[in-house]
Amino acid sequence: MYEKLNILDEKDKRLRMISKEVKFPLSDEYKELIKKIIDELTYSQIEELAEKYDLRPGMGLAFPQLGINERIIVIVHEYEEGKFDNYVMVNPKIVSTSDEMIAAELGEGCLSVNRDVEGHIKRNARVTVEGFDEDGNKIRVRAREELSLAFQHEIDHLNGILFYDRIDKNKPFYSPEELRLI
Ligand code: ZN
Repeated sequence: MYEKLNILDEKDKRLRMISKEVKFPLSDEYKELIKKIIDELTYSQIEELAEKYDLRPGMGLAFPQLGINERIIVIVHEYEEGKFDNYVMVNPKIVSTSDEMIAAELGEGCLSVNRDVEGHIKRNARVTVEGFDEDGNKIRVRAREELSLAFQHEIDHLNGILFYDRIDKNKPFYSPEELRLI
């Protein structure tokens, strides 16, 4: 039987901690876990596999969501129907951001938040992120649109922030004139 990742629920305090920088080399255990995360995020975005394994669709996961407070994020981005790019980043840092802000029109979701939370989360339309791959090589990713939102969402997890913390209580929704909604 397929054994699913054990993803923590939003109430777990470990999701609110600041995660530690990771030291290289990564353990084999972590490398295996990263592979499993990539597989599961990919399956979750393929309808028949999501159904087969009973997975909620998700494009990103951060180590703290598995109860490991270390700075590793994984994103599986469907850049074209049925085609996926994987991003594994260790000790990621946002090094530059666009002035332009956007939000996901339908709001954001999170594999640790098992309920719908409505509201727009204003984030940078583009970010450049630097970090390391699994082998400790320095990498840099320029992310835009949906992928940019995913990087910001996952890096927030490393700092104990959940997406709904960023919804403005006084103004949870923006019109398309106020903010570009994607
Ligand atoms: Zn999340």
